[in-house]
Amino acid sequence: MATTLIKNADWVIAWDAGAERHVYRRGVDVAFTDDRIEFLDEGFTGTADRVVDGAGLMVMPGLIDIHSHPHHEPLYRGIREEHGVANMHMTGLYERGQAFSPTDDEARAAGAEFAYCELLLCGVTSLVDISSPWDGWVELFAKSGMRGFLAPGYASARWFLENDLGPSYDWNEPRGRAGFTKALAVIDQALAHPSGRLSGVVSPMQIDTCTEQLLRDSRDAARERGLPFTTHCSQSVNEVREMIRRHGVTPIQWADRLGLLGPGTILGHALFLDTHSWVRWHSKDDLKRLGDSGTAVAHCPTPFARYGHVMESFGDYLRAGAVMGMGTDCSPHNLVEEMRKASVLARIAARDIHSVDVADFLHAATAGGATALLRDDIGRLAPGKKADLVLVDLACPQMQPARDPLRGFVYHAADRAVRDVFVDGVQVVADHKVLTLDQTDAARRLTTAQERMAAAAPQHDYLRRRAEEIVPLSLPVG
Ligand SMILES: [Zn+2]
Repeated sequence: MATTLIKNADWVIAWDAGAERHVYRRGVDVAFTDDRIEFLDEGFTGTADRVVDGAGLMVMPGLIDIHSHPHHEPLYRGIREEHGVANMHMTGLYERGQAFSPTDDEARAAGAEFAYCELLLCGVTSLVDISSPWDGWVELFAKSGMRGFLAPGYASARWFLENDLGPSYDWNEPRGRAGFTKALAVIDQALAHPSGRLSGVVSPMQIDTCTEQLLRDSRDAARERGLPFTTHCSQSVNEVREMIRRHGVTPIQWADRLGLLGPGTILGHALFLDTHSWVRWHSKDDLKRLGDSGTAVAHCPTPFARYGHVMESFGDYLRAGAVMGMGTDCSPHNLVEEMRKASVLARIAARDIHSVDVADFLHAATAGGATALLRDDIGRLAPGKKADLVLVDLACPQMQPARDPLRGFVYHAADRAVRDVFVDGVQVVADHKVLTLDQTDAARRLTTAQERMAAAAPQHDYLRRRAEEIVPLSLPVG
């Protein structure tokens, strides 16, 4: 038994269970013993093995990221930011995924280690990691110290391009079935890990690349095991058109028909609903289906915003009853920047300053994500909850004046103010440094891994182009 006391914290973002929302507390103590919060109030009288002076600090719940692909997204730095295909309604997903992918597990390990460091440094303590299983994944995740929801991806079909008008589908159901079996084995391995911090999410990759039966069986496996379920759904206009062509219904309606919606289901990214201005399908009931069923949405604004896409609108999803969570679908893996971007874009989409506020995004990035993952013991600071917490340095210049430190953190300072991070009561970031992993070494390995990936691009690209032809540098080299 080891007790840590954060004494007399200037600000604490505490959970008000009655109101089911976060509230500020001033000048209180936070004590945690082993993996659980023991006390959050004025005047802790117990004994502590370690005392942290809470002056100049805001104590907040660790953030929960419910959608990420750490094994490949860091490899796209300098490649992905401005890549898209106009004839595919601006998405670069299909062209990029075919031309550029990690060449080996060393590349995947470098990407994952780099991303895990970025995530820890911005205060993420729980992560849904959607990746093709690779050797060393479970061990590296455990080493990071984060709480892991490993989501091994699999699919019945692979996208490939014959032209620039949209993806074609290479169907191979035995490969999908084998991937499903392997995914459940990896999840079992995660659940059995002695850290006790690892779990799993059943993750058929995309609504359009999995057969009806694989989706139904995946949903059943998740429910039998009490695990969350996730799939990419309504993430591109091409996908919506393809599902209407196949089934006469939108992807959300197809998911509903297959019984996929409901508590414990996370859709990434449910952005192109039938009401979206880029879709404008006649049915206009996608959002109601999400809300009425209590389905969760993993909202990751950055990759879409870079293409020119925006969710319409986050506030409407909330009011419809959808469980909103936040994710990092690309680099940088900075969930606080996602919160900031999402709040601004939500107001642009709604044309309404009052459509959302920063508390909505804190909720999404903490308690909302926890609900999506069927957990009520994370994403909130209160006695009995997991000791996953972040110490924000109010003296950080970008936090000053710290009149409203949540606004200061989300709109101004972000990761620059994250001083210390604890997961399960164990410190994983101290004084802005990750204690568990080596980001500098990961960056070195990532650089050579990106070179290998770029060199292989002509073998994979449908026009056999070199990387420099697919994605030229932003400026000519003089
Ligand atoms: Zn994704």
